Amino acid sequence: MKKNVVTLILLCTVCMGFGCGQQAEKATHTIPEPNLSTPGFLIDSHIHYRATDEWEKSFLEIFEKWNAIGCILVNMKDLDRGITFAKAHPDRVIPYAAIEIDSPTVVADIRKAYDMGYKGLGELFALNEWNYDDPKYDPMWAMAEKLGLPVAPHTGIHASGQFSRMRPGYLATVAVKFPNLIIHAAHFGNPWYNEAGEATRRNKNLYFDMTGSSLIKKDEDPGYWKEFLWWTPYIGKPHMPADAIPAFQKIVFATDESPSGLEDNIIRFNKMLDACGVSEETRKKCYYGTIAEIHGIDVSKYLK
Ligand SMILES: [Zn+2]
Repeated sequence: MKKNVVTLILLCTVCMGFGCGQQAEKATHTIPEPNLSTPGFLIDSHIHYRATDEWEKSFLEIFEKWNAIGCILVNMKDLDRGITFAKAHPDRVIPYAAIEIDSPTVVADIRKAYDMGYKGLGELFALNEWNYDDPKYDPMWAMAEKLGLPVAPHTGIHASGQFSRMRPGYLATVAVKFPNLIIHAAHFGNPWYNEAGEATRRNKNLYFDMTGSSLIKKDEDPGYWKEFLWWTPYIGKPHMPADAIPAFQKIVFATDESPSGLEDNIIRFNKMLDACGVSEETRKKCYYGTIAEIHGIDVSKYLK
C-alpha cells in the first residue's frame, strides 16, 4: 500500500513559531493513503432507489464510472418507475422490491413484484410485534424461496431506534427452515456481530453486508472483524460445517448510501479487508462474485 509521509512541526507554545529561539519539536507520522482499489468490477448489494431524475442520473454516472451494478431496493409505491428504470439499464441494475412484511397482502405482493420483473426482495424490516422467525412470516419466506428471489432483511439497530426483532439469530432459523432461500442480510447484525458470524458460518445460504455505522464505529480498529469471521484456518477440521467457505466470503459489498457515497464505502471496506488480511480471491467474491452467482450474472463481459 502507498503511504504518505507527513512531517508535522510542532510550534513552540511560547511564541507560536515567531522565533523565541526555543527549539521546535519535529515528529514524523506515516498516514496510509486511502485504498480505492477494486477487482475492476463491483456489485453494490444494497442501495436504496429514489424515484427522482436526479438520483437516477447520479446512479448511472457513478456506477458506470466504477464499472458497477447496483441491487436497487425499490419502495412499493415506486415499483412501476423502478422496474422501468431497471429494464432500461439491465447492465447496471438488479431490481429488488421492498415488500412490507406485515402487509396482509405480502404473499401476493411478492408474486406481483416477481411478475413485474423484480429479482429480489428488500430491504425488509421487522418493526412490529414479530421476530423474523415468527411462523407468521413462513408463507412469505416460502414464496420467496419458491420463486428464487433472494431476500435482503435489515439486521440490528434501525434508524427508528428499534432492533430487538431483527437479530441475526432469527435469520439463522429462517435459513435452516428454507434451505433454498438466499438471504443476504444488511448490517452484519450491528451490534450482534458474534451472533451474525456464527449464523453465517453454519448456514451456507446466509450472507451479510457491513453497511451502516459498524465500519465507522470500528474505524480505529479495522482488524476487529477477524474476531467474528475467524474460521478460515479451521475449514476441514472438527466442529466446522463440511461445506464451510472462507469466512470473509460470507460478506458482500454494499453501500446503503446515495450513489455519491460509493467511493467512501470502497475506502472503508478496503480498510477492513486490508487490516483483516483478506485474499484477492475472497475480495472478488465480496465485491461481485457472490451476488453475481446468486443472480446468474456473466461477469466476463464486465471484466474485459
Ligand atoms: Zn438497513
